[in-house]
Amino acid sequence: MFAVSVMKCFLTPTFSAIPKPTPLALFSFASKSHPCNSTTFRHPSFLPLKSAIFSPKSAFLSIQNRGMHVEVAPPSSTGEIHVIVGPMFSGKTTSLLRRIQSESSNGRSVALIKSNKDTRYGLDAIVTHDGVKLPCWALADLSSFRQKFGPDAYDQLDVIGIDEAQFFEDLYDFCRVAADRDGKTVIVAGLDGDYLRRSFGSVLDIIPLADSVTKLTARCELCQKRAFFTLRKTEEKQTELIGGADVYMPVCRQHYVSGQVVIEAARTVLESRKDDCVSLA
Ligand SMILES: [Zn+2]
Repeated sequence: MFAVSVMKCFLTPTFSAIPKPTPLALFSFASKSHPCNSTTFRHPSFLPLKSAIFSPKSAFLSIQNRGMHVEVAPPSSTGEIHVIVGPMFSGKTTSLLRRIQSESSNGRSVALIKSNKDTRYGLDAIVTHDGVKLPCWALADLSSFRQKFGPDAYDQLDVIGIDEAQFFEDLYDFCRVAADRDGKTVIVAGLDGDYLRRSFGSVLDIIPLADSVTKLTARCELCQKRAFFTLRKTEEKQTELIGGADVYMPVCRQHYVSGQVVIEAARTVLESRKDDCVSLA
């Protein structure tokens, strides 16, 4: 009976109701009536299995196999990894900061990290497009965070937020260690795809590690429908090109595919803005 009940834990996943359960897709999208909304997918909860193995009175996990007896120290607390993806202007940073602020107001110790490649709003803060601002650590890589933050201070940390995660090559190892070994809650926000809709950096690599994945949508700049993709308005070809609304626009599938039309429209908009600037000068 024990084996059967354990199997049920695996076969009967529980899904988050935030805001709507979607058991059949890894990603799912918001209702058409609310283009900037999101739906969260959660991995099955394995807590019943874990509680069946761990003895609350013991500080060690006991493993018995073929006469061997091994005791392994469990992590001090259970970590979590939550991933927020989507195109540019879909509110990823806003969602990250909201979660961090919520954790902080619940009395948990938090820290924010962003890539030092993104200098649009200075290096000491993360700023959303609508002006919300929180102090942060701007780093070249995540592996240096513990040392720079201070090992003792790191041990006291509960929650780590990572913005623009596509720029960190060591994202997978950092998240795995922080959650599995160190018991941190890691909240990751980043682009899942680049302007050519290819996987961007290591963001998609951490999905197998994640407790939840949220794909946000923006609003298509040309037709106001839901936008899933980021279109580059300029002719630069490198994958990493830091920019805002002057370089990128969120677009729906139809307008992404008809990219030439979009780019021409964007050029027209840019030209008209230039004319406006000239006329205002
Ligand atoms: Zn569109």
